[in-house]
Order: sequence, then structure tokens, then C-alpha cells
Amino acid sequence: MTPPAAAPDVAVLFQAVFGAAPQAVACAPGRVEFIGNHTDYNGGAVLGAAIDRHVWVAAAANRSGRMRLHSAAAARPVDLAADPGAPLAGPDAWANYPLAVWRSLAEFGLPRPEGFDLTVVSDLPAGAGLSSSAALELAVALALLRVAGAEPPAPERLAALARHAENVHVGMPCGILDQGTCACGRAGQLVHIDCRGPHFTRVPLPASARLWIFNPRERHSLVDGRYAERRRECEEAARRLGVAALADLTPEAFARRAAGLPAVPARRARHVVEEHARVGAVVAALRRGDLVATGRLLTASHRSSQRLFENSTPLLDALVDRLESRSGVLGARLTGGGFGGAVLALADERFTAAAARALAAEFADRPGGVPEFMPLRAADGAGVVDGAGGGREERR
Ligand code: ADP
Ligand code: MG
Repeated sequence: MTPPAAAPDVAVLFQAVFGAAPQAVACAPGRVEFIGNHTDYNGGAVLGAAIDRHVWVAAAANRSGRMRLHSAAAARPVDLAADPGAPLAGPDAWANYPLAVWRSLAEFGLPRPEGFDLTVVSDLPAGAGLSSSAALELAVALALLRVAGAEPPAPERLAALARHAENVHVGMPCGILDQGTCACGRAGQLVHIDCRGPHFTRVPLPASARLWIFNPRERHSLVDGRYAERRRECEEAARRLGVAALADLTPEAFARRAAGLPAVPARRARHVVEEHARVGAVVAALRRGDLVATGRLLTASHRSSQRLFENSTPLLDALVDRLESRSGVLGARLTGGGFGGAVLALADERFTAAAARALAAEFADRPGGVPEFMPLRAADGAGVVDGAGGGREERR
């Protein structure tokens, strides 16, 4: 396969910053949550796609034992004599992600360089709900492993390591969707995750399907507490309902038991239970090639986020409302944790780039201005990029 286009740039930048060529380059895609909103940590199913926007990491060992971390997107490089042991704050906060991975490598019994230089380049918007954090973690893990002379682990193991890094060392209690999709993606396919295993399978996306992202650039930080609050609300609902996980309930079983629940946990639980069922319905619709039914289920997911889970925003709702009425748009929903982030639209070829531009222009007067929009393809998962100018290594 052809490596994504920016791969050489990260090696050039590394050389410019550190004065030598990198020993390893790795690349990981972002992801969209196709459907399955907050189902992952509730023992449910989720469908995601790795996307053709990436984070590239170039790395080399150094003899000084220092950790020198550079990103084209950061205000300044970070230079550490040793693991600071506490979270970095302010403009250096991004370095918590590579540090989290470096700690996790040891915790997973994998080799790592003691001192290393690392640079990051990306064409994946950060904080837009497209999992730049997972992409960064996976690319750092693959690059550091290569520097240490190790073979890449299986994608499922790599995903577990990156999730551990984010959960334990960054403090973001995300489920397996982000890292699992970015690690296990495949061009033209969706990744289905039964989050209990987790167990990964793939579902082909019909060739006529087009994916679009509209990112209104609202402030979005999943570490700011509302994601964790929803998680607690779901746990409380499961406890009151007497189930280990909300996805244990069918919508019918939930309806029979919901009467005794307070209003807020009842709304959260209904969203999760019905969303888990919608994921199954989308898989069935895709398997029979029915994109119209798939699109309807995507929009139903958004309305449930809007009204029951209350993790949408007025701006995301307005985007979905406008998209729904456009020719060629089959469905639209917020993608990712919510409380900001981006909207995913499923469309066919009638929805053109000109139509997307016209729709985005209607938002010029809103906070953040014209939303960023991009067509996306379902792409391959994270991998090591062969620095000698060859293709990306196949390891699946
Ligand atoms: P998302 O994963 O949806 O993009 P998060 O808030 O989980 O949003 O992660 C975004 C964070 O990941 C950024 O604030 C930054 O710390 C880090 N990050 C992402 N991309 C880069 C990059 N290219 N360089 C440095 N840090 C990055
Ligand atoms: Mg993230």
C-alpha cells in the first residue's frame, strides 16, 4: 500500500529539529464513531471507521537519557531529564500523551528506549472528536517499539496499551472504541467492536457510501468531567436496574423495568440500551446494502443524544437539522463523546463538495465561524512506515 502523503515530512522535520535522521516513523489514523454512542463502556457494541487523516511520529533513541518531545502543533518543545511523575500543564500538556505511552510500554512488559527524541506531525484536527489522542498514542507506541528493536504487537494488544495509557496516565476514562478503531481499521470497512471482549470484526461499507465530517470547532475537552459524569450516571442506572452493564438489557426489557428509575438515570440508560440495539440494526442494514435505513438509524442516534443523553450542543443539532434536509444526505449524527466535537454525515454521490461548502457557509455567523468540513474514507489502521521510502508495513 501507499503510505499517506505526509510521511516524508515528519522525517524531514525530525532531521531539522534534532539534527539527525529518525530511526522509526509510525502513523496512525483518526477515527469516526459511525454509531454506538457511549455504548462502549456500557458493555455494548460500537461501529467505527479509521479515517484518512493521520498523526505521524518520527523517533530515535538518544544517549543523553533525556526525553525530547516536539510537535508541529505545539507552541514549544518539551525537554525532560526524567519522567516528571506528575501531569504537565499549560502548553506542555500534550506531552502527557507520549509520556503516558512510554510508561505503559514498561507496564505491558514491552521494551522502550530510556532516552529518545520524538516529533509529531498531523493532518487530523485535535479535539474534534476524531480521536487525535488515540492516533497520537498508537503512533508513539509503534515508533518507540521500533526504536527499541521490537516487532509491532497485534493491533488488539496495541489498542489495549494505548487505551491503558489514556485511562491510567492521562486520566481520561475512554472505552476501547477510540484506540480499537484506530488500531484495527481497514480501508473500505467499518470496525465492529463488541466491547465486552473486546472482540473486533469488520463490516464492509457499501462503495456508494460517502462520509463527511463537519467540525464547527466548538471547545471540546473530554477530560473536563462531563464524559466522566455520564459514565457515573450510567453506572448508577445499571446498579438500580440490577444489571452488570446497561447493554445487558433489550429495549423491551428496559421499558419493563424503567418505571422505578429517577428521570435522569432513566434517560441516560434508555439512550444506551436503544443505541446498542441501533448498532445491531445498522450492521444488519449494511449487510443487505441498505444505506437509506443506515442513515435513518444514524439520525435517530443523534436525536437520542440530543434528547436523552444530553451530550449534544445547539450547534451540532443545527448542523444535523440542516444536513437532514439536503439532497443525498442519508443521515447525520454527532460523532465521539459529544459536548462539542463534530458531526458525521452519511451521504451518497448526490451530496457534492459544492453542497457541503454551501451548507458550511450558512454557519458563518455562528460561534467559531464556518465549520471545517472534509470528505473521509475508511482507512487502514496504525502501522510502522518504512523509512527507506518503501510502503507501510503490512502486519495484519
Ligand atoms: P480528540 O481525541 O477527540 O482529538 P482529545 O481531547 O481526546 O480530543 O485529545 C486532543 C489532545 O491530544 C490535544 O489537546 C493534544 O494534547 C493531543 N494531540 C492531538 N494531536 C496532537 C499533535 N499533532 N501534536 C501534539 N498533541 C496532539
Ligand atoms: Mg481523544
